[in-house]
Amino acid sequence: MPAAWFIGAHPDDAEIYALGLLLQLQQAGWSIGWVIVTDGAAARGVTDLALAQQRLEEARQAAAACSAALRTLGLPDGTLGGATDPRPTLAPCLSALGADLLITHHPNDYHADHRAVSQAVAGCLTPGQSLLYAEPMLGMGPLPDVWIDITTVFDAKLAALAYHASQTPEQFGRHLTTWAEFRALQIRKPGVTRAEAFSVARDHAFQKSPVGLLPQTCVTLAR
Ligand SMILES: [Zn+2]
Repeated sequence: MPAAWFIGAHPDDAEIYALGLLLQLQQAGWSIGWVIVTDGAAARGVTDLALAQQRLEEARQAAAACSAALRTLGLPDGTLGGATDPRPTLAPCLSALGADLLITHHPNDYHADHRAVSQAVAGCLTPGQSLLYAEPMLGMGPLPDVWIDITTVFDAKLAALAYHASQTPEQFGRHLTTWAEFRALQIRKPGVTRAEAFSVARDHAFQKSPVGLLPQTCVTLAR
């Protein structure tokens, strides 16, 4: 069974950025999971270890609801772009996952933690693995080149997001719905009402094409 893993900086990043794709892969017979690199303690601007504990439990419940595996690395939230180098912790984790497809943040994401995770994951890619970058929140980044129809799994994505009660999931849900509808319009296929978008990690020429791994019925490429 092939395996797909999302590597995210924060406890709700998998649900926000890539859960639609992960659920489509799961329906195609893949095992899925996500790694949360930080403890999520700084979501409100100050380090709050009680919040980190709450967020860990929220993430566990969301992953369990999706029948997804979960790994948490517990590095200090908000420090990956500076004081904390995620690579020494992330590298052995990634090599133990045995992932066929890795998905992570875009290297030009607006969030410093996201950029640091992205660079660390790209640096650990091994031959035979494939890498996709999720697009930054609400398209605040480069144009994507792979669109994924997530119409049939979008309700499950929002249901998983709702487990993150500490993070105003209703607001995130409204934003994600608007954005998924916008990306779906660009696919221009009947019945497609929700989509996520990704970019191929083109700086890794030795990787297997991630596009070829995806369920072709839900893939649309940039025209
Ligand atoms: Zn994040």
